Amino acid sequence: MDTFADVHLNLSPAEPVNLLDLDRQGLEDFFAGLGEKPFRASQVIKWIHQHGVTDFQQMSNISKPLRDQLEKCAEVKIPEVVLDELSEDGTRKWVQQMDGGNQIETVYIPERDRGTLCVSSQVGCALDCSFCSTGRRGFNRNLSTAEIIAQVWLASQLIDEEKKPGRKVTNVVLMGMGEPLLNFDNVVRAMRIMMDDFAYGLSKRRVTVSTAGVVPAIDKLGDLLDMRLAVSLHAPNDELRDQLVPLNTKYPLKDLTAACRRFMDKQNARSRITFEYVMLDGVNDTDQHARQLVKLLKGIPTLMNLIPFNPFEGSGYKTTPIKRIEHFSKLLINAGMTTVIRRTRGDDIDAACGQLVGKVEDKSRRHRRFAEPRFGMSS
Ligand code: SAH
Repeated sequence: MDTFADVHLNLSPAEPVNLLDLDRQGLEDFFAGLGEKPFRASQVIKWIHQHGVTDFQQMSNISKPLRDQLEKCAEVKIPEVVLDELSEDGTRKWVQQMDGGNQIETVYIPERDRGTLCVSSQVGCALDCSFCSTGRRGFNRNLSTAEIIAQVWLASQLIDEEKKPGRKVTNVVLMGMGEPLLNFDNVVRAMRIMMDDFAYGLSKRRVTVSTAGVVPAIDKLGDLLDMRLAVSLHAPNDELRDQLVPLNTKYPLKDLTAACRRFMDKQNARSRITFEYVMLDGVNDTDQHARQLVKLLKGIPTLMNLIPFNPFEGSGYKTTPIKRIEHFSKLLINAGMTTVIRRTRGDDIDAACGQLVGKVEDKSRRHRRFAEPRFGMSS
């Protein structure tokens, strides 16, 4: 899969190839098409991703005739940043203009020992999880490989430009807008670029894909690549999960947990799966839910991430009080589960989990459904 052939080679000057769409293999094929040796791919991928160079004429180890040829048939196209915000806690968020009325968001979250970039994979999201504001805005389209990796390119450049010690993109999580495993090929190609030593060189422990549970894609991913997997669980039984994560009606918990077990079996480098669990007051946060969770995940090496719900207008949910979250966490820890409570970051600039809404020309018409008065939204 995902060779250059399916990226539609088009060498006519009218439609230049965006080299951001190509991983190293794709670039090698591209250069082969120009009659060039494969090492050109490593040279160019370095210029673009390590040095941030988008102008072919600046690529000094490439011959002038080849630079001129590249100028005619290729480009490195980075979307425009239309909003750049810095939170009090150091979190930084960018909104990028895609096409038409579509915008996406990327968030940089600094921590003591690392800097995590939260990347979007789709314009909007088709999954309709009941507690997520991205889902409420509907869905427009998948992002291309170029649009996914451009978020990493942009953030790396702009964080470097800050010239602040310790601020650097060291980890990438595909936890922004969208369901990454429903945009499989483009996401995999972008992850290959993230992990390529000639590009960003991130180790497999530093790249995480987060999914609501697209079971066949979890299997396919496990066969192809080594990286970390996060599963947005949010409920320990099908009855409740069907309501919170409608995808569960297609891939119920029995199938999802079986896929997680298979994923862990594939490569021993995978230490554990992160499970995300948004804490919704009175909905999924009782002692019984904790006991069910322990039983459900028995035997799966687990890092449980309890996420305080980030409220948004008209959501109909409240955050579980912190005391109760701590109690819930203790129940899991006492049962032997590694559990952390995720700190909310960047909520003053609407950059926290589930607050990324971008601007979506909704094709699913969902936002109209949610515009009804019971959700209290205005448009
Ligand atoms: N579709 C993928 C990627 C999105 S990740 C997935 O479901 O995993 C975004 C994470 O934030 C998910 O775990 C999601 O469930 C969580 N989230 C969504 N809305 C939230 C909210 N309002 N408060 C806290 N977490 C939320």
